[in-house]
Amino acid sequence: MPVTFKFACPLSHGFHARPASHVAAIAKTFTSECVLTNLRSGSAADMKSVLSIIAADIHFNDACSVRVQGIDETPASAALQRFIEHDLAARDSALPDLLPVETRRELPRALRLLGVQVQFGQAASRGIGAGKAVVIGGIQLRATPIEGGAHDPALEEQRIHRAVAALRTRIQNKLLEPLSSAESGILEAHLAILNDAALAGRMLERIREGDSAAEAIVEANTFFADKLRRSDNSVLRERALDIHGICRELLDNISGAKKATTVELRQPSVVVAESLAPQQLLALDRKWVRGLVMESAGTTSHTVILARSLGIPTLVAVKDVLMLPTEAEMVVDANRGFVILESTPPVTRFYERESRTMQRRKQALARYATSPARTVDARTIGVSANVASAEEIDAAFQSGADGIGVFRTEMLFLRREQPPSEEEQFEIYAHAACAAAGKPVVIRTLDVGGDKRLRFVKIVAEDNPFLGYRGVRIYQENAELLRIQLRAIARASAAGRVRVMAPMVSTLEEVLWFKEQVAEVQRELKANQIAFDPSMPVGAMIEVPSSAFILDQLAHELDFFSLGTNDLSQYFFAADRGNPKVANLANVRHAAFLKFLQQIVHGVESHGKSLSVCGDMAADMRSIPLLIGLGLQEISVPVADVTTVKERISRHSYSECRKLLSEVLEYPLVQDAERLLDRESARSARGLLSPELIVLSTDIRSKEEAIRELVDTLYVQGRTDDSDRLEDAVWARESVYSTGMGHGFAVPHCKSDAVNTASIAILKLKEPVDWNALDGKPVEIVIFLAARESDAENEHLRVFSRLARNLMDDDFREQLVKAGDREAILALLNKEFSQVKNVAADLRG
Ligand code: PEP
Ligand code: MG
Repeated sequence: MPVTFKFACPLSHGFHARPASHVAAIAKTFTSECVLTNLRSGSAADMKSVLSIIAADIHFNDACSVRVQGIDETPASAALQRFIEHDLAARDSALPDLLPVETRRELPRALRLLGVQVQFGQAASRGIGAGKAVVIGGIQLRATPIEGGAHDPALEEQRIHRAVAALRTRIQNKLLEPLSSAESGILEAHLAILNDAALAGRMLERIREGDSAAEAIVEANTFFADKLRRSDNSVLRERALDIHGICRELLDNISGAKKATTVELRQPSVVVAESLAPQQLLALDRKWVRGLVMESAGTTSHTVILARSLGIPTLVAVKDVLMLPTEAEMVVDANRGFVILESTPPVTRFYERESRTMQRRKQALARYATSPARTVDARTIGVSANVASAEEIDAAFQSGADGIGVFRTEMLFLRREQPPSEEEQFEIYAHAACAAAGKPVVIRTLDVGGDKRLRFVKIVAEDNPFLGYRGVRIYQENAELLRIQLRAIARASAAGRVRVMAPMVSTLEEVLWFKEQVAEVQRELKANQIAFDPSMPVGAMIEVPSSAFILDQLAHELDFFSLGTNDLSQYFFAADRGNPKVANLANVRHAAFLKFLQQIVHGVESHGKSLSVCGDMAADMRSIPLLIGLGLQEISVPVADVTTVKERISRHSYSECRKLLSEVLEYPLVQDAERLLDRESARSARGLLSPELIVLSTDIRSKEEAIRELVDTLYVQGRTDDSDRLEDAVWARESVYSTGMGHGFAVPHCKSDAVNTASIAILKLKEPVDWNALDGKPVEIVIFLAARESDAENEHLRVFSRLARNLMDDDFREQLVKAGDREAILALLNKEFSQVKNVAADLRG
């Protein structure tokens, strides 16, 4: 009597080679026949065969059944069930950083000027590497026809067995060497494929039908690789390359040929290939592999995963790689997404400087990326990221986000003819959940209407769209759209700490209805044995004032809340957030609004539920002390602001913030509150200038290098995240007129949103450089003024113009020239600007 059980696949990337090899290893310890059926597609697999399991194309959450029959069926079924239910999910070792790195297809200025030739691609493993280009030929499998056409099947069988045994020994020996876990995991999976009854079975079957050993290998490769390539799961599709690699090695073995495609590296090398099997990468002498350039590898292929685990800068989707020059000195820039075809000494110099800059930035910002934000009196404030696309997720966690505070999913639906499918959404949400590695991910369901329109959701023209049909209000009429999204979110909840959140809630009825939809979807998944987290928290945005007055009831129904201060303030003050004429009315620092927030914080707190802020107020430097003073311990800000906000929090004290808040609450006029907050902001702000922004140079040879040095100095301090764009902005200014003001001084400046924090950086050169200055004299002291676009009306620009005025003064210039070190320069500016709050505060800090 066969024993059966069912399960839902818990592997977020589907049943791929590594987990399949664990299952096959258990099944093989029993004599019973073990059959796994994918109930979605109906395809059945022999559980002792890794290939057979992966060819069954089992996706995350697919319902499956297992049928075990034979003399040891009961213990065999029990062992398999135990493993599948308790251990399988943990064998899905995370595929790190699955999404390709977003890059802007533009060269940094210095490389543009050098006229370097590049080929763009998609960065799949970050980093920069240089070396001699080594082109590795394609991996076409071809069986040379046997002379005379006839052959002895017994002999051909023997050749297969011998080739398999030789390759098995080679992999086993390799496994005895010290290897990374990614590497040994992949080799073990290859061993399992090689030992797989299905592979050998297919080859032997072909030989019985008249094929030679070589032909049988080629045919088996085509058979299995094709099956995998047809999968609609990209991870499984890319496993075709692994089979390809194994069959290539078998073929090499039986043909007795010296491995045609194995290349010996003897110097730092950039490996260029149309595509590369993981075996080929493993066969290379790693100490020489500095970069990888491929035309047709997927970003989730084992080759790319290996490259990432080995830290090899990798580009994929590079066109016509086989046309690239061989033997040339190449540079793979997998931070920006291109390969430089022929490097030169200036290019090398550019990248050497870049590598030093990266290292310095890493050291300067490390503490904010790895630890939570803490006030000076040790209160922890979680800083999560607001994201709107899959691409932002990895960047968020690299910046040290403590979670995703709001995933604005509507961005996935905009500018499309059709909504994204459940599968497409699921892949994105599950990726977010995996990338979060245990941190929470709040997925907000579709928030359209108002200023966001969709082609497939009918919203008739309204006089007051912001007071109209938007957010949760459109769900009942578009229930299928919501149901698909909730299914994708609930399925992703099996892959991490997913929370679902409804936008624009104004009544309890909406919450009850929304919760019922979530429950309905969960019932449906359960009935189909599809995995989900039954305790997935359900929450709501607090962004319509009415919701703040029914917090008792809402807190009873919901697990968490997030303050959407953008909408909450527009509805509170009845001032359209998109109308500049009234925008200043909706001031979140107004005592009236702060009292309202205080009431909400108390209301939520008294029910022990969590409350975060994800509106723009959370990233506004003047408002941060107010949020801390209100008692909030979770905020969510745009990805680019995570590090800056964490750093800023570390300058405040909770007890001071509470005092500040009570003071602000007493001001009926918002201008008074603003003045007080400006003072506090200046006191705690990262100043315009800090000691780290003063550079005493030893090795600057040109104006270009001086400007790059200043831009890099801001980058190291986290004051810009996009040096290339900032540099372009400085040069755009410079092209209008030279900023060499004479007397050996230059004042380059710019206003750009590539600047995170307005800054003054000073560079004192050892050797003067030409600046095309008004008096024709070379420049010794460069003062760089960098402002944000939004600084247009504030204090910073006044400081900049005052500094520029001071530089007209002979005495001031002379003192600056004489000031021999950082301290002396700081002391001078401190004295000069002691009445100007931003600079003075900075200098004291
Ligand atoms: C808000 O209203 O504050 C909010 C975060 O939502 P959105 O800006 O997406 O409307
Ligand atoms: Mg909103």
